Amino acid sequence: MTREYRHEPFMDFSVPANKEAYEKGLKLVNSNLGKEYPLVIGSEKVTTDEKIVSINPANKEEVIGSVSKASQDHAEQAMQAALTAFESWKKWDPEHRANILFRAAAIIRRRKYEFSAMLTKEAGKPWREADADTAEAIDFLEYYARQAIKLKAGQPVVSRDGEINKFNYIPLGVGIVISPFNFPFAIMAGTTVAAIVGGNSVLLKPANSTPVIAAKFVEVMEEAGLPAGVLNFVPGSGAEIGDYLVDHPKTRFVSFTGSREVGCRIYERAAKVQPGQIWLKRVIAEMGGKDTVVVDRDADLELAASSIVYSAFGFSGQKCSAGSRAVIHQDVYDEVLEKAVALTKTLTMGSPEEVGTYMGPVIDQASYNKIMKYIEIGKEEGRLMTGGEGDDSKGYFIQPTIFADVDEKARLMQEEIFGPVVAVCKARDFDHMMEIANNTDYGLTGALLSNNRENIERAREEFHVGNFYINRGCTGAIVGYQPFGGFNMSGTDSKAGGPDYLILHMQAKTTSETL
Ligand code: GLU
Repeated sequence: MTREYRHEPFMDFSVPANKEAYEKGLKLVNSNLGKEYPLVIGSEKVTTDEKIVSINPANKEEVIGSVSKASQDHAEQAMQAALTAFESWKKWDPEHRANILFRAAAIIRRRKYEFSAMLTKEAGKPWREADADTAEAIDFLEYYARQAIKLKAGQPVVSRDGEINKFNYIPLGVGIVISPFNFPFAIMAGTTVAAIVGGNSVLLKPANSTPVIAAKFVEVMEEAGLPAGVLNFVPGSGAEIGDYLVDHPKTRFVSFTGSREVGCRIYERAAKVQPGQIWLKRVIAEMGGKDTVVVDRDADLELAASSIVYSAFGFSGQKCSAGSRAVIHQDVYDEVLEKAVALTKTLTMGSPEEVGTYMGPVIDQASYNKIMKYIEIGKEEGRLMTGGEGDDSKGYFIQPTIFADVDEKARLMQEEIFGPVVAVCKARDFDHMMEIANNTDYGLTGALLSNNRENIERAREEFHVGNFYINRGCTGAIVGYQPFGGFNMSGTDSKAGGPDYLILHMQAKTTSETL
């Protein structure tokens, strides 16, 4: 029997051996820069002329690798390979499937620094963030493997005399997994293996800015013993192959993490029943947030300031869970704001390859431009307290930026920016705080800093978010501890890393035998 699940611990880089290991990882990745990675279609590795070139967002000149780019023909071939593989994969004992995930987790754990270093290079993640991303990828493998074993028995149902009733889960079919750049390892691997371990086969289309880490993960799954065709690797353009695969009559489900715009597009397209399609497609969508850190009058003000700052600026705010709004009680507003600004000024920004860097770049030019546009909007809508400048000469660097005195309905308080920008808003009282906290289209994460038991319990009920945190920041959900997913336009509230996540990729079958 495998040991009980517990999450992968984070590395302490003040320990010299850990620091050295990470540096070794960076060296290894640096010595492998510029390599080519093929598509994986069934048992074939396919190299195409057209490539997706992955660059280092901290240094635009540096090519991380080139990944073959799938056309519609390739996507169709991959679909056929996945359909064929499904016929045998679905019959595997769930425990045997789970063993492949355990082995993959062990392989990644042994090469942890290499994977984290790759995240530093390809996604611009500072060490701590990269380490957390790799740890979370391991967690997903470990957690979903155990969940699959648990689910094998199905759920208990009642049988009358002379009858045997059973309730079991069987897989769905071929799933399309479309993963984001911001957790290019954890979410990519997690969404992929959740589908696979339940007996489905998958076509994986990773984010175009971070395809190399995905290619490396596909190699690991093969090394861990995953049969050919169960995981097909098809990086490509959303317009060209994303739509094609979402529309495909043989697609059984789509697991998407990314923007609201693309999520809504997928949801709509998947709803249309195509000629030859004999099911209604499922869509699992995790789409974003406009998450709030709420500070009550009697909160610990130091903790409040640090919760605002680290929720806003971790990985440059490029998390769906990022605390991009702070709502502060008027009685402590000035003090908390001042503390948050002072703390922000101590944050180090620069090359994510340096151990001491807190914030690296944002992912690409399009993100950079969008965030800088919001900073201009912020200058109209609020009072710039710190930051506000960007530099895209070498990489895509934007200072951690705080705007104060922003109106609760302002664009900065309503629209997802996905960058290191936080809007701060003053609230009259607790009623007003709850009202502002719930006034967006989203409902992903939120935090309340308070020492007032009545308000804490009230917020537990009223704060309408999928992940509500008390007396801490609003990022950093841990697999198996804080299942992650949100309400309203944040998606389908599919709780990644939670006990009902695998079931979303399965269908329940009842059998009833009369004796
Ligand atoms: N699970 C991550 C967290 O809790 C965020 C995932 C995301 O940004 O998509 O911070």
